[in-house]
Amino acid sequence: MKKGIWAVLWLLAAQVWAADMPGKADADNERIRAMVKEVLREYASNLGPKHLNADTKAVMQNIGQDNRTFMRTHKANYFKPFVDGQHPRATVITCADSRVHAHAFDASPDNDLFVVRNIGNQISTAEGSVEYGVDHLHTPVLLIVGHSACGAIKAASADFSQESGPIKNELSSIQIPKGEGGIGSVVLNVHNQVKYAMAKFEEKVISGELTIIGAVYDFRDDLKQGQGKLAIINVNGETDPKKLAQLEVVQATEQASARSRRPY
Ligand SMILES: [Zn+2]
Repeated sequence: MKKGIWAVLWLLAAQVWAADMPGKADADNERIRAMVKEVLREYASNLGPKHLNADTKAVMQNIGQDNRTFMRTHKANYFKPFVDGQHPRATVITCADSRVHAHAFDASPDNDLFVVRNIGNQISTAEGSVEYGVDHLHTPVLLIVGHSACGAIKAASADFSQESGPIKNELSSIQIPKGEGGIGSVVLNVHNQVKYAMAKFEEKVISGELTIIGAVYDFRDDLKQGQGKLAIINVNGETDPKKLAQLEVVQATEQASARSRRPY
């Protein structure tokens, strides 16, 4: 503990030193940053048991336990198909929200879904990852999934000027009307993301190599199609519900089929 106090004092002294010398050269600033990092590392390594938050302990116990169960119940045969490489069938962009997970629409997402997650299920804030799935892993489907009660949508529809720079950056690319943070804006954001993807992957869509699908995972039944429904609201830019219902891809999704899960 004593060591920890000295570490904090040292950290404060380093900050004061930095503040006193605004004209410092970049190399000096870099040296200060490295020193501060070293202090924090030293401080963290000396933290005693009192610093272990009860919630941290509980969550890590659960994670460890669940991983041990997973290892016990999944043997070499399970991993065999993908130990040497991945072959996903869809690139999926979802919100990072903890209530949204791929198991709601894929019982075995391992080696099947290349999932990119961020606040507001956006392409522009994770563009490289999305490109990797579509252009390098050649998934035939790009599925963009919004969800009911999305905090990012709510935040983007309000004043978020007090947020930190990185959060502001990720919220500012969500183009929805102010004051409208409900399901209507969730749907609008999905349409906007599909539009963005259409422009980005235009050639692949035209050639039929890629289908871009916009959907809403509705765990609150806001769209009145059933709680937990993955409602398809956009296919390659088509948003008219009547026309969507006639599309083969939508009909295939709606069919409760017992066909093989891997037709490709
Ligand atoms: Zn969300």
